[in-house]
Amino acid sequence: MAERIVLQNVKRVNEEAIDLAIDDGVIAEIAGAGSLGGDRVIDLAGCYVSSGWIDLHVHAFPAFDPYGDEIDEIGVKQGVTTIVDAGSCGADRIAELAASRAQARTRLFALLNVSRIGLARIDELSDLVWIDRAQAMSAIRALPDFIVGLKARISSSVVRESGLEPLRIARQFAQVASLPLMVHVGSKPPRTEEILPLLAEGDVVTHYLNGKSNKLFDDAGRPLPELMAARARGVRLDVGHGTASFSFRVAEAAKANGVHFDTISSDLYRGNRLNGPVYSLARVMSKFLYLGYPLKEVVAGVTSRAAAWLNMPELGRIQVGDRANLTLFEVRREPVALVDSEGDERIGHLHLAAKGVIANGRFMEC
Ligand SMILES: [Zn+2]
Repeated sequence: MAERIVLQNVKRVNEEAIDLAIDDGVIAEIAGAGSLGGDRVIDLAGCYVSSGWIDLHVHAFPAFDPYGDEIDEIGVKQGVTTIVDAGSCGADRIAELAASRAQARTRLFALLNVSRIGLARIDELSDLVWIDRAQAMSAIRALPDFIVGLKARISSSVVRESGLEPLRIARQFAQVASLPLMVHVGSKPPRTEEILPLLAEGDVVTHYLNGKSNKLFDDAGRPLPELMAARARGVRLDVGHGTASFSFRVAEAAKANGVHFDTISSDLYRGNRLNGPVYSLARVMSKFLYLGYPLKEVVAGVTSRAAAWLNMPELGRIQVGDRANLTLFEVRREPVALVDSEGDERIGHLHLAAKGVIANGRFMEC
């Protein structure tokens, strides 16, 4: 006998109130609020529903302390049903990360670090011997349902004397594997003006709102010409807040100049989850509500757009017949102190709070 869970009186981000029936983990019916009944009715008046949130940039390999975390701590426990580990592991240990999925309720994918050693060291691209094509390709072939792209961290402390060479090699790997590349930007060298021209359609720049001197905007807040050219080629922009990579000042100027995010991600690991300034994906999303982005856009940044980049549109929609993958959340009208990576504080008036998820068909409170 199928169990029917009904989520009652829940709002979509367009404010439409609905009931949602889930039979044995599959979305069976979507109807007007108050019209459906079932074995287990959960009244969610005041709550929103979206497809399950996706965080495209986290670190979920606890062995690499402090740059790792437990999968469900940065996943379902904070309303995120899918996370993408952004290059914690290279070919050496990616199989271990893949195996850790068995213990988790959060769906996990990975971007393979082009350095085989991954974040075992934080200068993982400083020696080109660690960028091993055969090893990378064999990892990608072995884990086709897990590796969704490549990751290269192109900043001075990571590449040291290697300059742009790791990025050139990473782009070749991506080309050969037909996968997109996520590039982390930070302190120079290499300069942002040299990095952006090497990226192709579908590649992602993470940390695009960082406030470092090598940022993607000039001192007046205008986007660099190389950034506009990359946008025009189809290069995407991802937030990747992190400990050091989100500046309100830059974010305000970027928005004023019409340069908007494609996806919102956290760059969470244990340290910046427990001690800030990141805390959770919901907190990062609240910062974009503060910046004046509509709720619909902010949610699209962690649902449909992230799913589109993953080439898994089913993860970014609510549709009858799909396996239920949902996030339930509140938008509280209350003051919230929001601190960026530079220590700048803003007081927001909308506070996003995850209430629960339906992950892999099962309901769980946050
Ligand atoms: Zn990261």
